[in-house]
Amino acid sequence: MSSHFIVRCLDCDHQAPYFPTSKACPRCGSTWREAEYDYETLRQTLPLQLPSRSFDLWRYRELLPVRTPNPELTLGEGGTPLIRANNLGMMLGCPHIYIKDERQGPTASFKDRQAAVTIAALKEAGVTEAVIASTGNVALSYSAYAARAGIKLWAFITSLVTQVKMREVAIYGTQVVKVTGNYDQAKKVAAEFARQRSLYLDQGVRSIPTVEAMKTLAFEIAEQLTAMLGPPKTANDGNQPPASPWRAPDWYIQSVSGGLGPIGVMKGFDELQTLGLVNTLPAIANIQAEGCAPMVTAWRANKTEADPVHTPRTHIATLATGVPGRTYTLLRERMLERSGGIFESVTDQEAFRAMHIVAKMEGISIEPATGVAFAGLIKLVRAGVIKPTDVVVINCTGHTVPVEQSVLGEGWEQEVDLPEETHELSIPEDGLLAALNRVTPERYSRVLIADDHPHVRRLIRRIMQAQGNYTLLEAKDGRTAVEMIRKEKPDLVILDLMMPEMDGFSVLDAMKTDPDTAHIPVIVVTAKELTNQEKKRLDGQIQSLMQKGDFMSDELLDEVRSLIE
Ligand SMILES: *Cc1c(COP(=O)(O)O)cnc(C)c1O
Ligand SMILES: [Zn+2]
Repeated sequence: MSSHFIVRCLDCDHQAPYFPTSKACPRCGSTWREAEYDYETLRQTLPLQLPSRSFDLWRYRELLPVRTPNPELTLGEGGTPLIRANNLGMMLGCPHIYIKDERQGPTASFKDRQAAVTIAALKEAGVTEAVIASTGNVALSYSAYAARAGIKLWAFITSLVTQVKMREVAIYGTQVVKVTGNYDQAKKVAAEFARQRSLYLDQGVRSIPTVEAMKTLAFEIAEQLTAMLGPPKTANDGNQPPASPWRAPDWYIQSVSGGLGPIGVMKGFDELQTLGLVNTLPAIANIQAEGCAPMVTAWRANKTEADPVHTPRTHIATLATGVPGRTYTLLRERMLERSGGIFESVTDQEAFRAMHIVAKMEGISIEPATGVAFAGLIKLVRAGVIKPTDVVVINCTGHTVPVEQSVLGEGWEQEVDLPEETHELSIPEDGLLAALNRVTPERYSRVLIADDHPHVRRLIRRIMQAQGNYTLLEAKDGRTAVEMIRKEKPDLVILDLMMPEMDGFSVLDAMKTDPDTAHIPVIVVTAKELTNQEKKRLDGQIQSLMQKGDFMSDELLDEVRSLIE
């Protein structure tokens, strides 16, 4: 049989042709196998073919386990934008953060790659019925593609998944089986069901099309980064590898459950290196939810195998794989051998908070599982693991549909109560005015930001807007600040010391000598090393002193909250 790739066993190296229905190595029975292509030929041919192809997942079809991609099955998978995170980058002091927006896939998560390639491979092999276990997004995505391909799908979904998501799976015609238990239990039930009926079972990282599909993320990222930043520069000191046509980021960050994504993405970058298209590999940051972080625990203990977490304690069901099995071992091995990286965990609360930051700063609404990756990014930058100059790509794995109440908290809406007797559009004018009068920002605390640098004002404004309801006032110099403080009587002043003409010290003096403004709390934010005499001048006059550059959003916000609430 002729094919453009073979399947190699990770345990005995045996090479065999690929059939989607053969689950194991014919020689040793191992279920851990990997696709290998004719890289020598592709090195010559692929770069010539790419320019004429559209930017979608099938652009790299010679490196995918589907012989003849069927255009009738596609829903527009892959080719998602890479978006520069300007505001988040400014907040973190890292200008090169890029968001790979996988929410823009057909069912709004990066599982669409996996589903598109798997369903295409199954269709090509004549498979008509398949079984999956899912924490939600796999079920959604496979359901859409299976519907299109006319393949009957059984989805075993843990009962932790929201009803809304389950109903969406059902509308595609998938048979939903709700398993009262966690994801690892749902997987067992699904496997037994598939075995009894001899149906195709998607085995996640052990199914060839899944890993191959995730690879395309690496290909796209390298092409997009190159378009945005240009190819890497030629080394001139002779110690560095020669320049390559494409660029790899310094970091790839993803929230991780079973670990399929990073396994696929690493293979993708490996292949780009083999093809001579990149000559560096990204470090991988795998972020897990603290309540279910078996890989992080094993990594920190320097263990080659991860102990299972039998009772995941996280509200983020999407990430609740408690039994990572060999995937962790492979990931760790490959990270240590090739590109390095880290496993890190964050709390549910940190993830929810990151959702707010990303939505409010970048206009990107993400699901809690994706919030985990962004919270991880923030944590790693703060810890100095990710450097300010690093080029970072974060996988924005999924869209939040719908936003859950627990994430949003209380007080996010205001109501307009119309009088009972109102009919259609004929609202009496006074009634309408009275109702709208109550919709005002007046109940928010008012904070004045006094700083002569517009970018600092903008940064502080961003940080405050992203995480709370404040009415923000800005003054661009000391004199304006004093005028505004007298007139507006804000609840808090965030004050720069070094401003032309009237500096922060003089603003403080003016505030403190006026009984109407003397009580207003002040946070001083300064880039200046203060002399002892200056410190004395501030003593007792201000509530808090922060050094510019090393204050991060949380510290500033904690101060703000403690001073006005
Ligand atoms: C599946 C999923 C993950 C975890 O991906 P793995 O690579 O399988 O660990 C993260 N975020 C979202 C939105 C997902 O659907
Ligand atoms: Zn084998």
